[in-house]
Amino acid sequence: MIVFDLEWNQSAYAPNHRMPHEIIEIGACRVDREYRVVDTFSALIRPRLYKKLDKHIRSVTGITPEELNAGGTFQDVFADFVTWCGDDAQLVTWGRDDYPVLKRNAAFFMTPMPFDPPLDAQLVFGHACLGDPHQQMNLHAALERMELTPDVPAHRAVYDAQCTAALLAPIEKALAELEEEKRALLLAAVRRERKIAASMLRSQPTGYAYQTDALADERLMNIPCPACGRRTAFDTTWFDSGREKFIALSVCAQHGMCYGQMHFKRAQSGLLIMHQRAYAADESEAADVREKHRLYLLTPLKKRHHRLNMDDALRMKAEMKSAKAAKDGAPDA
Ligand SMILES: [Zn+2]
Repeated sequence: MIVFDLEWNQSAYAPNHRMPHEIIEIGACRVDREYRVVDTFSALIRPRLYKKLDKHIRSVTGITPEELNAGGTFQDVFADFVTWCGDDAQLVTWGRDDYPVLKRNAAFFMTPMPFDPPLDAQLVFGHACLGDPHQQMNLHAALERMELTPDVPAHRAVYDAQCTAALLAPIEKALAELEEEKRALLLAAVRRERKIAASMLRSQPTGYAYQTDALADERLMNIPCPACGRRTAFDTTWFDSGREKFIALSVCAQHGMCYGQMHFKRAQSGLLIMHQRAYAADESEAADVREKHRLYLLTPLKKRHHRLNMDDALRMKAEMKSAKAAKDGAPDA
């Protein structure tokens, strides 16, 4: 079993939407059957996109720009890591964030991604040790809760991996004592998380300022199949499921139903950026989306498009603000 952790850097001002988080460190440890650490992996990656190290990341990790500059390329470090892991590695992480970031970095650098989604130890910890499936406790709080104080010098990837490893034995012990019903809930949650982690993610700047225009662009709205990447056919249209989150059901001729989620964010240019996620939908998920779609179609048109008018409201707010700024800046009469 291999526990891994990543550190990454980003840019608040000029994010690249193909890779909003750039990995700067991969750390991991291999554990034996008793969850004892038998080997470690630690390597820094010289950033290609975000060369200025975020102040917060720098202070938390203690990584210096000089150290980072001496790091390897993503391709080299990732290839080393894959080799170090070996065949059929069972991966574990703390939390659900690392895997999608790793996947996006691999895609950005056009490197094959050999790993399936890892087991999320945080999720299992929540179910087994906290009795609260929805609590996402951070790693160090979890260690405190279990009265563990691993001797690690800083918040670096390899140390966080070791801290996660230190929790595996207590987690297994709690799991063994878990009631059958709760265990079934946990298994369902783990399966669901794996599926979401394996989902297709797409972020794309659009040429549109208004959601209605973006929604009308057929090519942009297409959902690539999460399994093969080919175009799927819509079973429902995209529809607003509340708070400007759109969902849709579509079907790949080869892989079956896909569940699509989409929302828009506004770039500084004022144009919209589309964020899309799609994963394989089972029968009950498909039925759920169809039912939501049916209810959506029953909603009166006037109410239904109410949310789309947020764009107008935002524009009016911006206009009022600039009018006020012009007024405040005007010389006294
Ligand atoms: Zn497919």
